[in-house]
Amino acid sequence: MKNKIALFPFILILILTLFIFNNNYLLPRDANLGLDDLVMLVDNNMNLMPVEDNKILVDHLKRILKVWKNVKFSPKNAFAYNLQEYMDSRLSTGDFSKLQNLDIFHMDHSFIKARIHSYSNEEKAYALKTNKLCEKACENDIFNMYLANAPKVLALRDIHGSKVKEINKLYSLAYLDGAMFGDKYESPPRKRLYITNNYIIDDLKDIPIHTLIRGGYANGSCNDFSHSIVVSSYIFYNQNNIIDINDSFYIKNRVEILAYLIAHEIGHCYFNEKENYLNNKSIMYPVHIFEYKEWLKNVQIK
Ligand SMILES: [Zn+2]
Repeated sequence: MKNKIALFPFILILILTLFIFNNNYLLPRDANLGLDDLVMLVDNNMNLMPVEDNKILVDHLKRILKVWKNVKFSPKNAFAYNLQEYMDSRLSTGDFSKLQNLDIFHMDHSFIKARIHSYSNEEKAYALKTNKLCEKACENDIFNMYLANAPKVLALRDIHGSKVKEINKLYSLAYLDGAMFGDKYESPPRKRLYITNNYIIDDLKDIPIHTLIRGGYANGSCNDFSHSIVVSSYIFYNQNNIIDINDSFYIKNRVEILAYLIAHEIGHCYFNEKENYLNNKSIMYPVHIFEYKEWLKNVQIK
């Protein structure tokens, strides 16, 4: 009995060590992140990030990840593919059933209200940027945020003409996520960072609160299974009704914002980090609606 009690602190330390390693660092510190490919997914209907910005983006990512997680960012290969052709080649992995959810944006308000009701108080407080607990009235305020932004996101489909409307799967997160899921099954399995010049719209089924108050617009996503990531460069390079891309702040800082958006997804995929709704200085704090300026100033690693 005495021997068993003497072992207890050692077992406790062992459990704590395993817990810390499992939860904070899927990678040992000072490791290579282990991404295989950097892939540009190009939709010819949209403007593309200029080639010179690619190098600046990689430099920002190297610096951010070194300081933030002490890991090296060095994908082995870089490719560019036509978005439509790439997706067509992966039909078997896309989840088409979820595409239907894109159409309930402006129809099923009771579904959205029920979804809002299910979020935690912490999530609701984030949405409203308040410290107070969120009662019924707050849920209406969150619903109004969704109502204010959903038409702007829906209008993106119209800005680039009817051709884009027809190929709506290309901007569906469900579809992109299906493609990323398939990366795991390739031989050898691939971990890819995709940058699409199209925009990404999440379906409403399991939508997180930060995407819901953006009217469904997603900056990016990671697939936990394959460790592949997709981030959209669309909003900073294409005229849209959401941000002013001619604003000098965006012209100067858009590549760095993109780098932090990618770092945020890397936090999810490689370091098991969840959204941090409480600390707006954290890279894991989701961009509040479309406040990219404020977000960059807060999360920037000097
Ligand atoms: Zn996130």
